[in-house]
Parts: sequence; C-alpha cells; structure tokens
Amino acid sequence: MSDIPELRRKNLIFLGAPGAGKGTIAKEMVAKYHIAHISTGDILRGEVAAQTPAGKQAEALMKSGQLVPDELVAGMVRRRIAEPDCRRGFILDGFPRTIRQAELLEDALRELELNIDAVVFFEVDDETLLRRLTARMNCRKCDAIYNKISRPPKQEGVCDICGGELFQRPDDSLETAKSRLKVFYGQTAPLVDYYRKNGLLFAVAADTIPAMMKRIAEELE
Ligand code: ADP
Ligand code: ZN
Repeated sequence: MSDIPELRRKNLIFLGAPGAGKGTIAKEMVAKYHIAHISTGDILRGEVAAQTPAGKQAEALMKSGQLVPDELVAGMVRRRIAEPDCRRGFILDGFPRTIRQAELLEDALRELELNIDAVVFFEVDDETLLRRLTARMNCRKCDAIYNKISRPPKQEGVCDICGGELFQRPDDSLETAKSRLKVFYGQTAPLVDYYRKNGLLFAVAADTIPAMMKRIAEELE
C-alpha cells in the first residue's frame, strides 16, 4: 500500500507565460504524485552549463529571450518521455511552445503509444508576470524557485532546502522578461486555442500555490 494519490489524468502539459507559476506548481505536483517533471528550460540550461553542441546552439537565443529551434527541443522531449520513469505520468513544463512543437510532440506520442490527458493553462496578467519574473531567485544547486516578494527564502540569498546560493537568471532582467512575454504572445499563445479545440484545456487563474494545487487536483484526480 502506498499513500501516493493517483491521477486519473496523468500525462500533462503546463501552458502559460513565463512567470505564470508553471515550474513552481510542477515541482509541487511531482512531490505529491511522483510523476516526472520535464522542463525544457531546465534541460536546456543543463546543456548550456555542460557546453554540449545543443547547449552552444541554445545559449545566445536563451540569453536574449528567443526560442531555440523546434526540432532541437522536440528531440530532447522525445528522448525524455521514452524513459521508464515517465510511465507513472509526466508534466511537460514549457513545451510545446509553438504549433510546430505541438505537432512534433504528437508524432512522438503516436510512436510511443502515449496520449496527453490534459493541458493546464496558467492565466496571469502581464503586470503580475513581470513583477514575478524580475523578483525570481533560483538555487544554483537544487533548482528550487523563490521570489523576493511572495516567497522569500528564510535567509537572504540562501536556499532553504539545500543551503545553496540563490541567483537571478540572466533572462529574468526586466528587458529580457519583456521580450519573453512578446515571444509568448506571438508564438505560444496560439496553443491555447489549439488545445481548447481538442477539449484538453483547462484554465487556472493566478492564485496562491495551495489554491492552485487544490483546483488542479480536483480536475485531475
Ligand atoms: P520561462 O517559462 O520562465 O520562460 P523556461 O525555463 O521555460 O522559462 O525557458 C527559458 C528559455 O529556454 C526560453 O526563453 C527559451 O529560450 C528556451 N526554451 C525553453 N523551452 C523551450 C521550448 N519549448 N522551445 C524553445 N525554446 C525553449
Ligand atoms: Zn537549493
């Protein structure tokens, strides 16, 4: 017997602007349901840190807030969802981000005989997004996410979980955050209609993390 709650709909896409709370909620969901967290941003930052060929290709684009090529990210996701830990379910956090990526994902899913069960759309206004992005702090060691205003660490600059150093992502400067929002409205927002049409979408409004978790659990369990 285990006391891990089961998800009725377990293969998920988290869709929403940068700063909408996808990563934070994804980490809570992973802790609660033991499903896999696939963050293309985290994977790409790992590739950049390791200076792999993919990382070198992505680095400048990420710094300026542009998207990295669809085929490159889709290939990473395809390999990742084929891994055995994804069978309990997975959250695609930050992917797909273009219609083309959604199509490439469908190809990969068909091959692996998998389905997406729900697309969670995080609805947050621009002012809140910019405020959150520019106040965001990340742990260098364990990737935990903090916010100087709404979710400060107990000790300034230090991770509560692992004691690691907190830093601001270079793409969270005000200027780059604004470009990322533009990219979102231009390239990613069309996916809202795309997934609404096939009946998978449900929207969650910005709220406290426990309130959002409750709403998502009601919808998915
Ligand atoms: P956020 O959701 O806060 O924008 P992410 O960590 O998801 O941050 O992404 C950071 C950067 O990584 C993006 O601005 C983009 O350059 C790149 N990236 C992440 N996911 C994708 C994707 N699916 N397609 C293209 N580029 C991506
Ligand atoms: Zn940490």
